[in-house]
Amino acid sequence: MNPIYNFSAGPAVLPRPVLERAQAEMLDWQGTGLSVMEMSHRGADFRAIAAQAEADLRRLLAIPAHYKVLFLQGGAHSQFAMIPLNLLRGRSQADYVDTGDWSLKAIAEAQRFAKVNVVASSAASNYTTIPALDTWQCSSQAAYLHYTSNETIRGVEFQHTPMVGEVPLVADMSSDILSRPIDIECFGLIYAGAQKNIGPAGLTLVIVREDLVGAASPETPSMFNYHNYATTESMYNTPPTYAWYIAGLVFQWLLEQGGLQAMAAQNQRKAAKLYAAIDQSGLYHNPVDPAYRSWMNIPFTLADASLEQRFLAEAAQVGLLNLKGHRALGGMRASLYNAMPEAGVDALIELMQDFADKVGG
Ligand code: PMP
Repeated sequence: MNPIYNFSAGPAVLPRPVLERAQAEMLDWQGTGLSVMEMSHRGADFRAIAAQAEADLRRLLAIPAHYKVLFLQGGAHSQFAMIPLNLLRGRSQADYVDTGDWSLKAIAEAQRFAKVNVVASSAASNYTTIPALDTWQCSSQAAYLHYTSNETIRGVEFQHTPMVGEVPLVADMSSDILSRPIDIECFGLIYAGAQKNIGPAGLTLVIVREDLVGAASPETPSMFNYHNYATTESMYNTPPTYAWYIAGLVFQWLLEQGGLQAMAAQNQRKAAKLYAAIDQSGLYHNPVDPAYRSWMNIPFTLADASLEQRFLAEAAQVGLLNLKGHRALGGMRASLYNAMPEAGVDALIELMQDFADKVGG
């Protein structure tokens, strides 16, 4: 039987050794007789798990001491509201870059709380590129600047952190966090839902510069106030304990792989192979500007859309799962997160070539 490769955009593939370890520890975590799911979040065992996960994440991303790491719930969608509620700090304006579907969602939610200045938009290109930094119309009044480092649906990714000066930079890294090293000090705040490169759905990570916490708007619900998590080691209420534990296992696995430099090299190689296979073929097409093509999510279409169902069926037959594109876009999408082995990409390329040969592409 072929191995299964899961190309889902999220919830997504997890490293096999992480799942095996979780399985081995499922009923009895390290001789305690308890599953991690059954532990009090305030007990010594879970606190040790939580602290180790944070320490490992800090090591992976080289997070300086003056940044807080918050383990939250609510997904990236909650952050769309929490960011303006916490970071406006008496100002009324915020800058947003529009590079696609997720940027637009963040903008729409922020407009409930702030005057949003869209500094640049790639709508005119149908979101296949990113406007050059020197064309961005940033406002001197903005409390922060928000951008989406990787647009998961259309596969458009910033290859460099946009340096915008003094204004705190806020990044939605839901679909590319931990895929490569970044310089945390460039950012005021980074957030990510866990279910792509971190762990199971239900956990949301926020990394925030300390001085930005503590000045939430007065109407901010307690559960939306970063201060309440920053002062309680993210235990203001019951955190998503099991997802936190699995995320910790993923962080350990990443360290064992050689950390984010090693992941970046592998991710770049995996993506380059797949783009080359797409570009060299007459059958497959990816419309994104090569300068901004995502390492994580690679959408592609078939020259003859009527072949899509057959392609997906043949892929599933050989164990290549969840290649169907986002419902808004159609076509295919291969998500190549950290936990997707290179062999999975090789198997996909082989299938694509065989299929093209068969249908004459
Ligand atoms: N931002 C990006 C870039 C995403 O890919 C997603 C999820 N696909 C979200 C935000 C929304 O995440 P959640 O479902 O965790 O709210």
